[in-house]
Amino acid sequence: MISLKPYNTFGVEAFAERMLELATVEDIVDYCKLAESSRRKFFVLGGGSNLLFVRDFNGDILRITNRDIEVVKIEDDYVDVWVGAGFIWDEFVAWTTEHELWGAELLSGIPGTVGAAPVQNIGAYGAEAADIVVRADTVCLGWWHEGVFLQKLSNSKLSFSYRTSYIKEASHERYIVYGVVFRLSRHIPKDRSNFVRLGLIDADITPELVRNKVLEVRASKLPPLSELGSAGSFFKNPMVDYLNLHRWQTYIEDIPFYPQGADLVKVPAGWIIEHCGWKGYREGQVGVYPKHSLILVNYGGATGLEILDLSLRIAEDVRKKLGVRLKPEVEVV
Ligand SMILES: Cc1cc2nc3c(=O)[nH]c(=O)nc-3n(C[C@H](O)[C@H](O)[C@H](O)COP(=O)(O)OP(=O)(O)OC[C@H]3O[C@@H](n4cnc5c(N)ncnc54)[C@H](O)[C@@H]3O)c2cc1C
Repeated sequence: MISLKPYNTFGVEAFAERMLELATVEDIVDYCKLAESSRRKFFVLGGGSNLLFVRDFNGDILRITNRDIEVVKIEDDYVDVWVGAGFIWDEFVAWTTEHELWGAELLSGIPGTVGAAPVQNIGAYGAEAADIVVRADTVCLGWWHEGVFLQKLSNSKLSFSYRTSYIKEASHERYIVYGVVFRLSRHIPKDRSNFVRLGLIDADITPELVRNKVLEVRASKLPPLSELGSAGSFFKNPMVDYLNLHRWQTYIEDIPFYPQGADLVKVPAGWIIEHCGWKGYREGQVGVYPKHSLILVNYGGATGLEILDLSLRIAEDVRKKLGVRLKPEVEVV
């Protein structure tokens, strides 16, 4: 048995039967064929920064360790880069800004691996992985183990939406990402509104400058992983229709919301949780981070079940008080 505590950012204890590091696509295919014939259970683990282990895992934990990075296309306006799934996401962003390429800079500081970025459709400050992913190179196998194939999933096939993708939602197949192609622009985006919202109004901004600003803002708001266990935002921001919004507005004047198309608005889950009185709540070793109500934290020694229990109580309280169902962004394993 192997302890998963060092491999999840919540820092909770759980054990798995084995942990395997797979570096090449051939290693992944061979493993999948073996898993298929022996009906072995497995789970693909990146940096463990969006997971909550609540019990031991009776199977293999796979870690994809390829960290190659290669420029595969150079055009006047853009550059395409293939990056191995095991590359640390933020080190990749640093690489892009060092090369004065645009597209990933607003996603600076997000923990985890490149392989998870298209699975999660990571996002921050108005940008998301969907904006720059050209394709994800995967090994695919049926949930019930019916053959192993290589599949290159294009941006449109990945069907990105808010913090999810085709890979995450697939119900008949499982995909293991071994590399991702990103398209990065050589020019500053025409629409600079995301930069302006960060207070960057200088005409001479560079990707590096944006990255530094994002890292500064994140450091002021998010719990440092070296001191507190967390998995970032625990819940997704809920979408509500205008009817519900107007109902709320009759008794809560200052409710923040962001229109999403003609019918729906996104309401910050952090605001909702704070409004329901949970900001800074602490019980034993688990709590709601005082500077950011969307983040549940492990003050040290908490179990996955204790964190899950707090999240369920918050969600139930919000449902009773506002009629909104909060859905977890964090995956419970
Ligand atoms: C402090 C903090 C701040 C955060 N801020 C943000 C933020 O601003 N925006 C945001 O979007 N997220 C944020 N997150 C969440 C997290 O960083 C992202 O979801 C990240 O993409 C998870 O990457 P990972 O490698 O740790 O994946 P894991 O947590 O290990 O796995 C997540 C999912 O991806 C799957 N997966 C991982 N690698 C592969 C692969 N190679 N092939 C197939 N499936 C795979 C796993 O099976 C699992 O289902 C934050 C987390 C923390 C702790």
